[in-house]
Amino acid sequence: MSKKIFFKIVAGGVLIIGITAFIGHCIITVRKPNIILITLDALRPDHLGCYGYKRNTSPTIDKLAEQGVIFTDFIAPGAHTAPSNASLITSTYPNLHNVKDWGYQFVQEMPRTLPVLLKEKGYNTAFISDQIGLTSIQGFKSGFDTFDVVRSINRNPLPKRIIEITDSAINWLRDNKHKKFFLWVYYLSPHGPYVPGRPYNKIFFQDEYYNINKTIPISQDSYNQTSIGTIPGYLSVNGINDVDYYISQYDGEIRRVDYQISRLLEELKKGGLDKNTVIIITSDHGEALGEHARYFCHVNSLYDELIRIPLIISWNKKIPSPMVINQQVRLIDLMPTILDILKIKFDHMQGQSLLPLITQRVGNFPLFAYSEQFNLTSVRMKKWKLIYDQDSMRYELYDLKNDPREERNIVALKSGMFKFLKFKLSEYLSDSKVYNKPVKSFMRKEAKERLRALGYVQ
Ligand SMILES: [Zn+2]
Repeated sequence: MSKKIFFKIVAGGVLIIGITAFIGHCIITVRKPNIILITLDALRPDHLGCYGYKRNTSPTIDKLAEQGVIFTDFIAPGAHTAPSNASLITSTYPNLHNVKDWGYQFVQEMPRTLPVLLKEKGYNTAFISDQIGLTSIQGFKSGFDTFDVVRSINRNPLPKRIIEITDSAINWLRDNKHKKFFLWVYYLSPHGPYVPGRPYNKIFFQDEYYNINKTIPISQDSYNQTSIGTIPGYLSVNGINDVDYYISQYDGEIRRVDYQISRLLEELKKGGLDKNTVIIITSDHGEALGEHARYFCHVNSLYDELIRIPLIISWNKKIPSPMVINQQVRLIDLMPTILDILKIKFDHMQGQSLLPLITQRVGNFPLFAYSEQFNLTSVRMKKWKLIYDQDSMRYELYDLKNDPREERNIVALKSGMFKFLKFKLSEYLSDSKVYNKPVKSFMRKEAKERLRALGYVQ
């Protein structure tokens, strides 16, 4: 081969590669994916099939998880709806966004929420839900072109309301399928009262896992704010006091939403939208189903049954799947992840994108996840958790690896770890008021030295 021909071939190759790369670049930059975020309020991950649950509560979610990524240690910043969702859309801890427990206000003005940012970037945005509690958070509605909260409690019995939400989401999808969009469908289920309706109230009732011998009293305190070892008054049905009856109904609620999700996904497929849509399934907090003698509520504790929530991210063949990521990550990391997927830059956050973990299995993640509720604060590592009760000034330390049910407080046995986590918890008060500061503290010594030599750090 002459030199001239060789160079022509090479030049031609470079040109083809260049054109291909350019076309590829255009596809990536022009066709950014749509986002569908689906929240199931008070959903525990360990009651989903894809997280190993014994009952078939979630066939649709399980299938979606097979085509996506499951995070096993995804931690909410608290156990209440308002602060958790405020954290989701601001990527900040409650200490910064200031929506605390039942206080439904962004007291401190936030620079941008997720829907506001996405709207600015040309996304059509919608929030469709039956969780009316969220409407009271100041600033929550901002950025949504459509804010449709189904207020049909009196008109429709609860089981029908969920169909109405899905119908509304499907209609919205039909109207918006030609534009890029961010659709957040937020189901109040499986939050109590557990009334899944037919046939879901029968699917798990007295099945092979049902124990008819476990009964407890029904509380006079409607929401179990203070009493333990009882069924909250507001969700008791016909005086039934079988613990497993209520668990079977909680599971029925999950199965009921799962079916609604299948309707949504079918609609996506019809229009071919599934090919370029990221689907995210998560929750805002868990639910106590008898752990620590607390039944069917999510108040007054920060144990794992309340702060561990599911996270499943599915993106048709664009991310490696199926994949299970065991690293501890946080609800405040979800917004940076969505922005990273959409290549949108934004600095005012405390979370970090999970995308490097998904695509390269790497990520310099903070080892600590903080949570708070009323007088309680906690700091959680993969293996350890410290909870502090400001009222009683009592600490609880748990070895999550050997005691995942958090039943043995080992503060007195592990004084070194106790002091360390106590210090980290005290840091939360200052660090959680600053954007993205925590990352700095986890830099390795060598890396820090290198950066210091280069003049990047003091
Ligand atoms: Zn909630």
